[in-house]
Amino acid sequence: MKRYSICPFCFERINLHKVDFRCANAPGRCSPENDVVLANFLGVSSHITNKVVKIPLATTVWEKLKAWLWAPREVICGVCHEKTSLRLCPRCHSELPYTIGEYQDLIFAVIGAKEAGKSHYISVLIEKVRNEIGAHFECSLQPLNDETIRRYREDFYNPVFRKKEVIQATLSARADSRVRVPLIYTLSFKKKRKIRDVVTIVFFDTAGEDLDSEDTLRTENKYIYNSSGIILLLDPLQLPAVRVELPANTPLPGENSETEYLLERVAKLIRMAHGKRPTYLIKIPLAVAFSKMDALEPLLEGSSLNYPSQHDGIFDLNEFESVNGEMESRMREWAGSLIQSLEHNFKSHAFFGFTALGCNPHGSQKIDKLRPRRVEEPFLWLLWKHKLIGDQTFLSQLLLKLRPFKISVFMLGVVFGLVISVLLVGIGEVLLSPTYVYEKTDELPVRLVPDDSVPRRFPVTGAEKQPSTLPSVPIEPPKGVVKAVPSLQSPVEFVRAYYADINGGDVESAIRKWKSPNEVQLRTLIEESQWVKINRVTLLTRERSDSVEVSVEVSGKQKSQRTQQKWAGTLVLEKVAGEWKIFEMQLSEVLPISPSPARKLIMTGAGVGLRKEPRSARQGNVVTQLQIGSVVSPLEKITKKGEAWYKITTSGGQEGWVHSKYTMPLDSNNQEQAYVDVAKRKLSSQADFGTLVELCNFLNRVSQQVSAPARAAELKSLYLAALQRSLEQIPRDQHDKPRYSNWLKRQRAKIEYNESTGGWVVKK
Ligand SMILES: [Zn+2]
Ligand SMILES: [Zn+2]
Repeated sequence: MKRYSICPFCFERINLHKVDFRCANAPGRCSPENDVVLANFLGVSSHITNKVVKIPLATTVWEKLKAWLWAPREVICGVCHEKTSLRLCPRCHSELPYTIGEYQDLIFAVIGAKEAGKSHYISVLIEKVRNEIGAHFECSLQPLNDETIRRYREDFYNPVFRKKEVIQATLSARADSRVRVPLIYTLSFKKKRKIRDVVTIVFFDTAGEDLDSEDTLRTENKYIYNSSGIILLLDPLQLPAVRVELPANTPLPGENSETEYLLERVAKLIRMAHGKRPTYLIKIPLAVAFSKMDALEPLLEGSSLNYPSQHDGIFDLNEFESVNGEMESRMREWAGSLIQSLEHNFKSHAFFGFTALGCNPHGSQKIDKLRPRRVEEPFLWLLWKHKLIGDQTFLSQLLLKLRPFKISVFMLGVVFGLVISVLLVGIGEVLLSPTYVYEKTDELPVRLVPDDSVPRRFPVTGAEKQPSTLPSVPIEPPKGVVKAVPSLQSPVEFVRAYYADINGGDVESAIRKWKSPNEVQLRTLIEESQWVKINRVTLLTRERSDSVEVSVEVSGKQKSQRTQQKWAGTLVLEKVAGEWKIFEMQLSEVLPISPSPARKLIMTGAGVGLRKEPRSARQGNVVTQLQIGSVVSPLEKITKKGEAWYKITTSGGQEGWVHSKYTMPLDSNNQEQAYVDVAKRKLSSQADFGTLVELCNFLNRVSQQVSAPARAAELKSLYLAALQRSLEQIPRDQHDKPRYSNWLKRQRAKIEYNESTGGWVVKK
């Protein structure tokens, strides 16, 4: 039994030893009265209800000790002398859940900007948790009081699931006292028909405009700063960078700039309330979830965000990382400043994408077909963060098993420390032999590369070279040091292993992976192929069954072909004698997107390397350098390790890869605006001398191409601003260095020397 808890109504931290009670007797037997405290909280002038009963004052030493040791569970009404166990929050006089203090109380705050889809999210999430998640994770979500049942039915379930209508925007909690009724649930986890864990979960539907960092006393604000997890909903359709990329006929909500400030306001509020310095990193886990991802399908080709999530019984870290990484890189493109704000404010955050309705409700107010996707993922992440569900790692599974015994990570650490130090004594011998490290690459699932820091006793060949020269028999690591192949492979690992066989030329192993192989065809295929690698592999069905479908995308080059090709499709796997076998495979070639004249990119970075391959650090990888404002045509876009890269051709016909963070979509109807945007973006950053010179050259060039006089003048003034900034970057004593003196000479007509400051300035 805990001493302190958070009231799920007013979200005030309360001492459970000092609660009030409400008389439970029938109104005829004990006369009701006006509860001023509750009336105040509900925002009404009076609220007639049963009497409030205070805990009797402790007078003797024994009573005082008892009051300190145990929280009171019942008291006797001073008027009717009946026992009552209805506990009230001492602050707001709302009736506390009977489970309060017995279990972990988690308040999950769902917040979002106006029209971000909070109400839809809550309605669909609760249904999802009650049904599917309940089945997958052996847990059950139960409403804790009648108000929760009623409010969920009336305000959430009925509109979405029965009437199939769009829920109107949440009213401000200040405007409507009904919104003040939170949805309170208990989520209980079972293990072998026994209760393992129970948590109280509270959802409070708060309107974005209610957030005000100055007023820490308001209920809506306490809900956030006393929460154990925050789900911040963002509507990508409200972000300007997304709107320009979408097909022209997409129905859109109003543009909304408050999204960016919302996060800052939340962070400021939490720090104010807990009296923390502005540099303090907030520890409440924050799930940043993009809603309405269905509308973005045209931009998300081949992304796992287009598929339902696969968390079944465990929180799948691989899946989580891939979604988190992809969303983060998207977000860098769409709202880079938000990422920075996140990193400066929240210690633990992750990105998600979901759709609550599965269809775009803007325009029509009807939901034609309800197809929610990935709504549960942010919620599962928060449960995982609070160690209520486990992931695939051994430690996590172990901790979950030990939960009923309340064993902490710290104690486990002590035990492991002892075990390891005992083992180390015996293992000293093994440590002197060559050690192996894992190098994870995209080409192969796992490659073993000897660690150079340890002297080698035997030469290793092949392993460090390109995959095409890998020997057909992989090098076995010394027994007992690392195991490269797990005993039972997941379907995804199996598919990766199959392509590793083809890439490595291991015909026999590839043949063994088919249920009924066509040997001749396979041999020809493997001989024909120069190299092949997997770009993406996703499990489409549940892993537990004996037949699964896997979607893959592979690139490769055949010896007879001049260029590389790309294939995508599905594999059907069947479990035969405990091993996966390929039953059927349907792949078709993906043709590269032809450069469309309508959609181009403009380079926003100075001297950005055009690279042979989509990776930053590699010598000899740079084809050429692209100047600020260069207009390029994208051919292909990939996301790699959470970073997005474009394959592009320059106007001069050179091909290569650029990192998406140095690009901006260019609206061909409004190129001039793009020039202004690029310049403003650069001028608002910490640009160095070289960058500013490049920016000046770019602005000088384009201001002469522009026909509208107002635009030309705007570009001209940006040019002068960039010129002034470039002059400020020149150190006072280095005016005669060639790098600077050449620039000063070229700009001589526009600048003058200021005697008093000893520096060059733009002429007035
Ligand atoms: Zn309260
Ligand atoms: Zn009474």
